[in-house]
Amino acid sequence: MKDGGYDVIVCGAGPGGCALAAKLASGGASILLIEKEDTPGDGRAWVVDVERGTFDEARVPVPGPDAMWREAGEQVMTTSDGSFSITMHDSPLRPVRNREYVRQLASWAEDSGAEVRTGLTVASPVLESGSVTAVETADGERLCARVVADCTGISGLLRRQVPAGWLMGGLVETSDTVLARREVLSIDPVKAAAQNVVPDGVRVDRASPRGSYSVETAFMDIEDGFVDLLVGQKAGGGRPTADEAFTSIVEGWGFTRGKLFGDGGPIPIRRPLESLVGDGFITLGDAACQVIPMHGSGTASALIAADIAAEVILETLDSGRCDRAALWPYSHRFMSGRGAVLAYYDVLRKHAESLESDDVNRLLIKGIMTADDVREGLVPKPFERSPLELLRKLRRGITSPMLLSGFALSGARAMKTLNHYRKYPATFDEETLRRWVSGIPA
Ligand SMILES: Cc1cc2nc3c(=O)[nH]c(=O)nc-3n(C[C@H](O)[C@H](O)[C@H](O)COP(=O)(O)OP(=O)(O)OC[C@H]3O[C@@H](n4cnc5c(N)ncnc54)[C@H](O)[C@@H]3O)c2cc1C
Repeated sequence: MKDGGYDVIVCGAGPGGCALAAKLASGGASILLIEKEDTPGDGRAWVVDVERGTFDEARVPVPGPDAMWREAGEQVMTTSDGSFSITMHDSPLRPVRNREYVRQLASWAEDSGAEVRTGLTVASPVLESGSVTAVETADGERLCARVVADCTGISGLLRRQVPAGWLMGGLVETSDTVLARREVLSIDPVKAAAQNVVPDGVRVDRASPRGSYSVETAFMDIEDGFVDLLVGQKAGGGRPTADEAFTSIVEGWGFTRGKLFGDGGPIPIRRPLESLVGDGFITLGDAACQVIPMHGSGTASALIAADIAAEVILETLDSGRCDRAALWPYSHRFMSGRGAVLAYYDVLRKHAESLESDDVNRLLIKGIMTADDVREGLVPKPFERSPLELLRKLRRGITSPMLLSGFALSGARAMKTLNHYRKYPATFDEETLRRWVSGIPA
């Protein structure tokens, strides 16, 4: 701590917060990392599938042996009733144990010189002369810093309390939230083999099992005696929650014996916030809605954002200015790069939500949605096909003119959105930002 305060206080020790704290501390900044749980990663023991290139791109340690999870030898995607399937290519994703990886990153932060305080809840940012200068904890303690980073996950607790003019959003709407549960359960191998509802050694992704925007992924290893089950479900709308759907699947199987590890929680699936920085303030990860909207994957984005933010913050600390304009290069680099692809997929996500399970089944059966398409969404990158090519392909399987025009329109709007984000303002000025925001395709 320098002069009674820190250079940066990072609030929330998820993957994003831990990576940011480690990078800043390695760069010589005085850092306080605050986590409300007693140990980083507590209550978040799910497996996350992370793009393989992430660790290099974000310049973070690869998950150690404890944080690696088992990969299936083969992967298929089936229709909602399981009657038709396509074989997926080698997965571009690496399964990682979230809790263990978060602990590894938190140790990296500590070893790099960050002070880590756990069991401490941040309550609010403190603003002085329009700038964030400190945070107040739930116990009323005031902790000062030149920059405060909100990495509190979906609650975005601090960014929701900064001035509205900073365009850092409010609460994430229920319509922009997905609920997910992923657990690894031990099994009775004899019963599981006899039932054969989940094939041994193959990861099965069931598309839209409970209406649009729902997922169910199961991977069973009979010899090692486990099944890894992920259930994702759009929040609200009278739908069962992911936890309810999870319980009903497991009860229906009847061959599981108990949880080995795993947890569940909400994920924001809207496009990233319009601005990621304020005076003396930044946000990243789920707090900034930097998640792939089509499937709720946020780990890679949080780590990549942490890498960019750390570089920019270290420069601002050196320059002695930590205002919005000085921190802006982080907002610009993220939004015009990965943020643009996330916004593109948000448009497609909203359209996909209007589809029924039968529509999605037809896309698979007629060969309109292929293994290549799924891979592009996972990586993520925009589809390479031209809109005309896409339309021709869609005509093969979609007879409804409404549905066809819906695809064409959303594809065009997604491209327009992508191009708009690519032109995210390179330098900060209030008026240019407002003009850019008002130009986001409706
Ligand atoms: C069941 C499930 C499965 C998932 N699967 C995948 C997947 O396969 N691939 C993928 O990429 N992503 C997946 N995700 C999403 C992924 O876990 C998140 O996108 C990622 O963890 C975001 O990281 P983060 O650092 O931004 O925030 P978080 O991981 O949400 O961390 C935020 C931290 O802040 C702490 N905190 C919150 N409020 C306070 C406070 N007031 N004071 C102090 N600390 C606070 C929290 O305790 C937490 O430790 C999944 C999520 C769930 C729930």
